Amino acid sequence: MAVEFESTNRGCDRVSFKEALIRGQAPDRGLYTPVEVPRMGVSDLEGFSSMSYHEIARHLAMLFLEGEIPSEEVGRITREAYDFDVPIEHVFDSAYVMRLDRGPTASFKDFAARMMARLMSYFLGEDDSEALILTATSGDTGSAVANAFHGLENVRVVVLFPEKEVTGRQRRQMTTLGGNVSTISVDGKFDDCQALVKRAFSDSSLDSLRLSSANSINFGRLLPQSFYYVYAYSRLAGEGDEIVFSVPSGNFGDLMGGIVAREMGLPVKRFVVATNENDEFPEFLKTGVYKPLRPSRACISNAMNVGHPSNLARLFHVYGGWIDETGRVRENPDVEAMRGDLWAVSVSDDETRKTIKDAYERHGLLLEPHGAVGWKALVDYLASEGGALSVSLETADPAKFPEEIESLLGFEPELPDSLKGLDDLEENVTPLENDYDSLRKFLQTMR
Ligand SMILES: *Cc1c(COP(=O)(O)O)cnc(C)c1O
Repeated sequence: MAVEFESTNRGCDRVSFKEALIRGQAPDRGLYTPVEVPRMGVSDLEGFSSMSYHEIARHLAMLFLEGEIPSEEVGRITREAYDFDVPIEHVFDSAYVMRLDRGPTASFKDFAARMMARLMSYFLGEDDSEALILTATSGDTGSAVANAFHGLENVRVVVLFPEKEVTGRQRRQMTTLGGNVSTISVDGKFDDCQALVKRAFSDSSLDSLRLSSANSINFGRLLPQSFYYVYAYSRLAGEGDEIVFSVPSGNFGDLMGGIVAREMGLPVKRFVVATNENDEFPEFLKTGVYKPLRPSRACISNAMNVGHPSNLARLFHVYGGWIDETGRVRENPDVEAMRGDLWAVSVSDDETRKTIKDAYERHGLLLEPHGAVGWKALVDYLASEGGALSVSLETADPAKFPEEIESLLGFEPELPDSLKGLDDLEENVTPLENDYDSLRKFLQTMR
């Protein structure tokens, strides 16, 4: 039986995986979510301990893609997507850190983007059609997406970024790719880039370009984020063990990947939901009242500065509730059940900095701000709830935050190979006024 998807806003028909992937967002502005998550077989978990990462990924992906893509194709896709290490470091007792930062753009977003890009390219090729991925970025997502689609067939990518708001390194990660990746530097802010992209999506004169988005609400990005939870369990747990994961969270896509893994049958004892000072979710679990933060608070773990997590719609849905795209709660979820499964905590910037220092001095553990939020939350959890087999996720390479690490630890972390040599490559970028007509003219030349 093929897996079907429904919208969290409950206002449209069920669709296949392929449709959910190509459309991205549901027409009623809700998020596509599986009607029923397929479960792993009882013997699967045991078998995983002797499989490599990409083999586990293939096996889990097939639970969702049976009948939609041949197994050999999924095998090729996972092999190509996951050609890098996924190290798990022991820290103390039964507590570990899993590094999800070894992909080509050195953040965990590579896990999702690389798989989604290949799935899209496959499905478009099957229909002999093409799509243009149009996306706005404030930094990391754009480079992960551009890198993931680079060199694939049937897709072209246009990335808009705010000229003055991205670092030189972030810019070069996108502008030096070339080939099917075009970049536009906008004389404006990130919000302006997003507004331009939104207008393009609703402009019917561009219909023939088949614009598509690759943003974080796509289920095609969520599914691959369930694989590493199962992988960690396969490497660390014995028969019958339960495991705790601590997840540094912004839009809750990473966390939802974990929830999907649990629904597939992974024995997860608790998820520690670690936020920075954007504490709307920890507050919600405490009080039962949800108040989005507007505007969001600017913290050093900047990829988690989110005042209303988009994937909360999916999380509420899993617990029988309904929250719409504006952040309004239409139906309350089962908060008691949520409290049993999730342990949420907000970590301040001061605590984050102290954690980076402590973790290095006490355990030789090198963390960057996002991973430090996760680790601090896990340490708090273990102190409060007792020891457990547990894994905290490190979502970016510390080398991406040289100033912070240098000022706290006195040295600059070494740049990974994938980020070296960017300065020597040629940049290819089109500067654009913050003006929709200029963007439309640019896109029309791509027909
Ligand atoms: C995007 C991001 C996060 C937050 O992940 P969500 O899925 O949005 O919760 C955490 N750390 C880093 C480095 C990120 O890039």
